[in-house]
Amino acid sequence: MVSPSLSPYEQLLAKLRRTYLVETVGSVLSWDEQVNLPEDSAGLRADQLAVMAELSHEASTDPEIETLLRTLEAQAATLSPDQAVVVRLTRRDYDRMTKLPAAFVAEKARQSSAAYHAWAECRKKNDFPNYAPFLERHLALAKEEATLLGWGDRAYDYAIDKHDPGMTTAIVEALFAELKEGLLPLVREIVTAAAPPPDVFRGYPIESQRQFLREVTERLGFDYRRGRIDVSLHPFCGGAPSDVRMTTRFNEHAPLDSLFSSIHETGHGLYEQGLSIPDLGTPLGQSVGMGVHESQSRLWENQVSRGRAFWSYFEPRFRSCFPEQTRTVDSETLYRAINAVEPTLIRVDADEVTYNLHILLRFEIEQRLFKGSLAVKDLPATWNALSSEIVGLVPPNDTLGVLQDVHWSGGAFGYFPSYCIGNMMAAQLWYTALTQFPDLESDFARGDFSRLLGWLRTKIHREGRRFDTLALVQRVTGEPLSPRHLLRYLRERYLPLYATPAAQR
Ligand code: ZN
Repeated sequence: MVSPSLSPYEQLLAKLRRTYLVETVGSVLSWDEQVNLPEDSAGLRADQLAVMAELSHEASTDPEIETLLRTLEAQAATLSPDQAVVVRLTRRDYDRMTKLPAAFVAEKARQSSAAYHAWAECRKKNDFPNYAPFLERHLALAKEEATLLGWGDRAYDYAIDKHDPGMTTAIVEALFAELKEGLLPLVREIVTAAAPPPDVFRGYPIESQRQFLREVTERLGFDYRRGRIDVSLHPFCGGAPSDVRMTTRFNEHAPLDSLFSSIHETGHGLYEQGLSIPDLGTPLGQSVGMGVHESQSRLWENQVSRGRAFWSYFEPRFRSCFPEQTRTVDSETLYRAINAVEPTLIRVDADEVTYNLHILLRFEIEQRLFKGSLAVKDLPATWNALSSEIVGLVPPNDTLGVLQDVHWSGGAFGYFPSYCIGNMMAAQLWYTALTQFPDLESDFARGDFSRLLGWLRTKIHREGRRFDTLALVQRVTGEPLSPRHLLRYLRERYLPLYATPAAQR
């Protein structure tokens, strides 16, 4: 019970804080599910998580929040700028949570669970036709959700806005069209020149990998006093800003996979750890959206950690962790392996040059599905045709094609574009940082990443959700979001490496 002696704003903060605490309990439970759970304990954990989801829904849809919001909206003129942000965004969240009838929410949850199991089964059996009805139902629910929330027939705009506030189909379409125009010829140029990645990674002991990635992530600035890294089947970053839970996985023949996926999750973790602690639970202590989150993970993973300066510091460390394994690998071979380019059918295995092609393909498909110009039953044929046109490869079966991603089985449409928005934003932030600190990379060569992290903390992390995705980019970089920077970055990093006479030997 909230004390009546508190002001309406303080009462609202107390409500938000309570919701936040309930959500973080659920988050630690699901981290534990993926990291520690004994195999026969899954039933209990599913029930525990269902109760936490109920409690969280109850807390965030508490009718007293409506009363407090109305009181505060009536006193809008007296609110400070920070308070106004909190009230405006809490209203947006609250309406999205409460405008959906309980029966609709329950139906969507049931459908997601059923579709997930159908997807896992059908992917294994290469059986799209039996998965199609689940996808059709999800599509219908996504359209219904948009209508219930007042988006009318702009269901795909709503799906995009849900992941990246303020973005629309038209904005993404324009950005992606420009990206595609520059990227397709660039990929052709690099792929023609690039030899298959050198296979120099055999028998890297897991314990030494663990030690090396701990050193790297700590150097980048991850605070292990309020976070940790463990092992799970699929790497992720969860928990809460004051208790970040990252995971990775190890393969003794693929040390770079675990290293770069750990650095990727560290980028997410650094964003979470950089959120304003006193504001946790309110929109001022939350991340903006998927695209901005992804910009942080990609910036650390790609622009920073695949660069020469980073490796001039870490290569000797890497060699001392793996003296036997690296004895016959010269520096240039190592650097090329770190920056290998090879088109692949599978999005999650793609390098940073060809990765965006996979997103262009999915965006095109989602648009057609929402417009109604593509029927679900025709998805495999369209997927394969577009894959040939955009990625340059035709999947031999649906398991390696349209069935590869989990997202749609959870009804997560409009999610894929965020990955590419994140990539564009990461490159744009990178060049802005380099303009402000031209000698930034000499820090990296000394193993010091604090200047870049400090800048991101101030410009991005501490702002919480104060600005929507595009407004934030404009504010920090002084210009609208554009694919030009990503294209420039890919050209500058990969052309010297591959499209030179030395590489064509
Ligand atoms: Zn990510």
